[in-house]
Amino acid sequence: MKSYRIATIPGDGIGKEVVPAGQEVLEALAAQTGRFTFEFENFAWGGDYYREHGVMMPADGLDAIRHKDAILFGSAGDPAIPDHITLWGLRLKICQGFDQYANVRPTRILPGIDGPLKRCGPTDLDWVIVRENSEGEYSGVGGRAHQGHPIEVATDVSIMTRAGVERILRFAFRLAASRPRRLLTVITKSNAQRHAMVMWDEIALEISKEFPDVRWDRELVDAATARMVNRPATLDTIVATNLHADILSDLAAALAGSLGIAPTANLDPERRYPSMFEPIHGSAFDIMGMGLANPIGTFWSVVMMLEHLGETDAARAVMEAIEHVTGNPATHTGDLGGTATTRQVTDAVCAFLAAHSAQAPQVA
Ligand code: ATP
Repeated sequence: MKSYRIATIPGDGIGKEVVPAGQEVLEALAAQTGRFTFEFENFAWGGDYYREHGVMMPADGLDAIRHKDAILFGSAGDPAIPDHITLWGLRLKICQGFDQYANVRPTRILPGIDGPLKRCGPTDLDWVIVRENSEGEYSGVGGRAHQGHPIEVATDVSIMTRAGVERILRFAFRLAASRPRRLLTVITKSNAQRHAMVMWDEIALEISKEFPDVRWDRELVDAATARMVNRPATLDTIVATNLHADILSDLAAALAGSLGIAPTANLDPERRYPSMFEPIHGSAFDIMGMGLANPIGTFWSVVMMLEHLGETDAARAVMEAIEHVTGNPATHTGDLGGTATTRQVTDAVCAFLAAHSAQAPQVA
């Protein structure tokens, strides 16, 4: 029987609650299908590790997870540690170390969820945002000089390479081609940023020729925000730079009803390294340890992990369980206006999987 080796990295805050919930769902799924198992190894890296060791993860940490089939990640963020240390010391170290250059964020308004867009029908918002995840504005190139003096200077240099832009655009076109509408919107800011963003536009045109079946258009990032709100149905697959897509995907998550629902995959499409799956929300220290975190973002991330592992039937089964549970207001957590706990939502998803699998064993 196939056994998948999964590294779990809960990280900080509610990551420590939602990652074990995600593991529980995977274990329930494996028990029901009887076709595969999961071998979990937990890595207690993050803020607490930093307090003890002065680093967010050990120097040889990447080697400890390099041979896993996938990584399930929670969140990194700690009120007592500067954000750039928690981010660069753990999550970005893994994303960059394993060249997970495609960050993929699906957004839909799930059944039972009341999004903020009044005129948006349930099928009008069905997007996948592809974020360049390895360079651009977050390449880490830059520095500071004359610190504390009036002439202090600081730079964050945005690096866009032809190789980096080509590979993310090719990935986005391929993803768009695999979706029913075959529609891609390439987001840039090529009116104001006249070098790298113009190169994006040029490379998009070149790559589009490899995908004659994909309809595509271009949008400036500022106009894209208005289009997401006013004409959501005109968008399907969206590709943007590291910074632009970071911002647009938080807007997308809010338009879909809650940060607590949205998932992310950090993919190495060439599969040289393990890919990493995580909810998009942060550590949410305000509700940490209370059992109130919405685990749906992690469960949807588990769906993306299963798809990546090639377990498409199992992925579909978990997604059906998620949609069943969001469809019932009794299993809505506080972020969705309900009173359900992480435990209750997890139990409801596992119960649906058990019942569903008993009725139709071929689905899972
Ligand atoms: P970071 O770790 O990035 O600093 P944060 O603590 O600012 O993150 P976010 O994840 O950005 O928190 O979320 C903002 C707020 O949204 C949280 O403080 C919390 O109240 C709510 N929230 C986020 N995720 C969830 C969730 N999964 N369940 C319930 N509420 C959530």
